[in-house]
Amino acid sequence: MRNELTRRIFIACVTVFLLSFGMMLSVMNSYLARKNLAELKDRAMYLSDAVNAYGQDFLYAFPNETERITLIDTDGTVLFDSLLDPEEMENHARREEFQEAVLNGQGGSERYSDSLLTKTANYAVLLDNQQVIRVSMQQDTVFRLMISLLYPMALIILIMLLLSVLLAAESAKKIMKPIRQLDPENPDDRNIYDEMKPFVRRLIAQNQQIQKQIQQLQAEHKKRDDMRREFTANVSHELKTPLTSISGFAEIIRDGYVQEKDISHFADNIYKEAQRLMNLVNDILKLSRLEEGITAMQEERTSVVLPELCRSVLERLALSARKQNISLSCEGEADISVIGIRRTLEEIIYNLCDNAIKYNHAGGFVRITVSREEYAAVIQIEDNGIGIPKADQERIFERFYRVNKSHSKEVGGTGLGLSIVKHGMALHHAQIQLESEEGIGTRIRLSFPV
Ligand code: ADP
Repeated sequence: MRNELTRRIFIACVTVFLLSFGMMLSVMNSYLARKNLAELKDRAMYLSDAVNAYGQDFLYAFPNETERITLIDTDGTVLFDSLLDPEEMENHARREEFQEAVLNGQGGSERYSDSLLTKTANYAVLLDNQQVIRVSMQQDTVFRLMISLLYPMALIILIMLLLSVLLAAESAKKIMKPIRQLDPENPDDRNIYDEMKPFVRRLIAQNQQIQKQIQQLQAEHKKRDDMRREFTANVSHELKTPLTSISGFAEIIRDGYVQEKDISHFADNIYKEAQRLMNLVNDILKLSRLEEGITAMQEERTSVVLPELCRSVLERLALSARKQNISLSCEGEADISVIGIRRTLEEIIYNLCDNAIKYNHAGGFVRITVSREEYAAVIQIEDNGIGIPKADQERIFERFYRVNKSHSKEVGGTGLGLSIVKHGMALHHAQIQLESEEGIGTRIRLSFPV
């Protein structure tokens, strides 16, 4: 039976069949026994009355066909037996039925033969002279009956087994039918029986969840596609502007429209635009490296000492700070460190300090403070520069977003610096907070979990 369900139902059928068959046999067996014993008792009572009335001699004349009659003396000695010679028989004082008759006036007993196919039933009655008369009869048990009915029995069992198989197969088919017909993509709990309903409902719920997730994924996918398209458009636009300027300047120089004395001025413009182009390409590369290399950079993580890193960044920016007369400082315990990607951390701090210098007034300051908190290492970068209007604070981390585009261009900005910072911070599971007021200054707080 390949089918598990069929097999189980079949086993259940056969078990029930065998159990009821067995119980019926035992009921029949005990009924037969009771009936036989009652008959035997009648016989014994009748014989005891006769012997009481006519004496022992009555027994010699009595025809014994079906039963065996034994007369036992008070001490258990056999006085008469209708089957065997009493001389050769053992003392019967210990026989159950004898003892019961002596004690209660009458009593019966049963002894099975070794094969269980037959048994001997005895019934004994106490006579007036205190001797005991016993009647015994051999009886067939239910097992003998079964053996004699072997063929019809075997036929019945065979039919039952066959019926069980058919029943099991049919039931299994009926149980499975609604399950087979269930469309997992589009389950319907109406045509199904109660036991299956929780399962089908769960299926329905799961399908709905999957549908929702697919929609979410599609939405995310679309958003990412849109963002990429927008980014490509922005990048092309940003690259085109300096290129247009460069080719314009080159063209008028080539065509001889520029006077000798102005050439260096135009060359300077070309140089600046080329520089801008270079910055832009560099920032785009950094950004895409951060976006794509998240897993690749995982193994680059090392312990980075923050105050030392901040000082080295400030050294790189010292020249541009001096040009604008901006003072730089860094404070903090020397041994504060985080586990991270050194190059990325350096870029983050560089971009923030660079902004703090670029969007500052002459004579302003940029101050870095490194400190330790309970679960974080914190870097604060503060300036007293032009500040960021409240309305723009949300958006400055977007790519190419600039509060004042021409100012940003003037100071060599690309609009990508803070995007790079945001991505780098995410790579470190770190948080960034911005506090800024127009005309007063900006404070950026970076906290790295430790
Ligand atoms: P950019 O290359 O233009 O500096 P960023 O992404 O670094 O691009 O910064 C986005 C914008 O946020 C800048 O154009 C500037 O308007 C504003 N900004 C950033 N940092 C500061 C700051 N410390 N003070 C004032 N404005 C700032």
